[in-house]
Amino acid sequence: MAKIDTVLSKLNYINGEWIGNERERMDIINPFNGETIGSVPKMGPHETDMAIEAAYSAFSSWSQLPAQERSRYLKKVADIMIENKEELARIMTLEMGKPIRESRGEVEYAASFLEWNAEEAKRVYGRTVPGRDASQRITILKQPVGVVAAITPWNFPAAMITRKMGPALAAGCTFIVKPAEQTPLTAIKLMEYCEQVGIPNGVVNLVTGNPAEIGNTFMKNPKVRKITFTGSSAVGKHLIRQSADQIKKISLELGGHAPLLVFEDADIEKAVRGAISSKFRNAGQTCICANRIYVHEKIYAQFVNAFVHAVGQLKVGNGFDEDVQVGPIINKYGYDKINRHVQDALNKGAKVAVGGKGNIVNEHACFYQPTVLMNVTPDMLIMNEETFGPVAPIQKFKQDEEAIQYANDTPYGLTAYFYTESVTRGTKVMEALEYGIVGWNDALPSTAQAPFGGIKESGIAREGGSEGIEPYLETKYVSMEV
Ligand code: ADP
Repeated sequence: MAKIDTVLSKLNYINGEWIGNERERMDIINPFNGETIGSVPKMGPHETDMAIEAAYSAFSSWSQLPAQERSRYLKKVADIMIENKEELARIMTLEMGKPIRESRGEVEYAASFLEWNAEEAKRVYGRTVPGRDASQRITILKQPVGVVAAITPWNFPAAMITRKMGPALAAGCTFIVKPAEQTPLTAIKLMEYCEQVGIPNGVVNLVTGNPAEIGNTFMKNPKVRKITFTGSSAVGKHLIRQSADQIKKISLELGGHAPLLVFEDADIEKAVRGAISSKFRNAGQTCICANRIYVHEKIYAQFVNAFVHAVGQLKVGNGFDEDVQVGPIINKYGYDKINRHVQDALNKGAKVAVGGKGNIVNEHACFYQPTVLMNVTPDMLIMNEETFGPVAPIQKFKQDEEAIQYANDTPYGLTAYFYTESVTRGTKVMEALEYGIVGWNDALPSTAQAPFGGIKESGIAREGGSEGIEPYLETKYVSMEV
């Protein structure tokens, strides 16, 4: 098993060099016990501009490499990630607490975006179109956008980077990542892999530091042509406003508030299994976690009994224990939000069926029991906002239309789930749900082959599938007279 140093002190990667030794440091905390496990430099606008300059200088040669060569680099990084799966997974669990089995799964998932885009790199086709008269020829070219700056969250420390780096590098763009302050070590390890496989200097770069300062520098520097972001809706909206000054291209994958509907003809066992994995994966800290569950009144009791029993069996603890299914909450801020949602629901008449309590070990290590709330009503905070924690509120419904109305009654539109064995009902429901991703009897829809992303306030653009490379390409139209 790969060994991990207790204290991991790392540098930034700019233009193929590791820099920042002399800088002030930012601590990285293990959320399981609150211990400091390492640190990274606190870089600012100067180093961010250096990274932009490096990416800008590398753009010309990288974008002109044959797609097959860019593809080979991506494939090599994917391979090295898989070869070092245990090492990378352990770093992830150490810095963000997710169960080790989920971390291993994330390594595979993250590598799959590099592999997928290694293939997509070769299929960036242009077009020719018949002209308006005999002398006109129309050619449509697809070209890389240029320097891409990525800002990524802590909940999927590897996959949220590769989902951006994969298509960016495949398209011929160069890349800078500012990882979340909670999880820079996974990101730095990815840069080490890029260095090991010989990705040319400046093609990938990493800066850590104050998010607003680095973000502002990306926005002010005209050499950055695209911002790609996964994170909260509040920061996403801020980035949209900032990007207006230079009309930068922008991709956003923001918050969700996923409903999970269980219709009267659902396979209840399947629905319970799905609800468990969708709700409690990553301690409920994913933007596609089911946030609210609606169950038809005819099967309500049966579903609730089985679900509550299954939730009661979930093991909470140290992500490094192989049998732990729910790790710590990322920080006290996240914990407070979960607690606020539960207290608000209880004040408004909800009942705890299982769980319902938190455990603050110290100011940097918090846990929340897997919880099921019943008797919930639409006016409760938890039915209106993303909770980002292991709490499942369940509401009863009578009519399909009523359930769909509840599901769509939100400014968010990332993911919705539903369970039914009826093709007729399912077809109508999938068409009626106002979401970018719909899981029909499927609680784990994310995969590199498919376009991931939301509508409404959940985002702009897609990641994965054949759509995933498009946001990294510009369309140029050439009109020729012959
Ligand atoms: P969360 O609340 O889940 O941490 P955030 O949206 O705050 O979600 O964080 C997602 C990413 O956005 C992180 O990398 C974070 O550092 C970054 N970020 C936070 N605030 C800003 C900002 N003002 N400008 C640019 N990036 C930011």
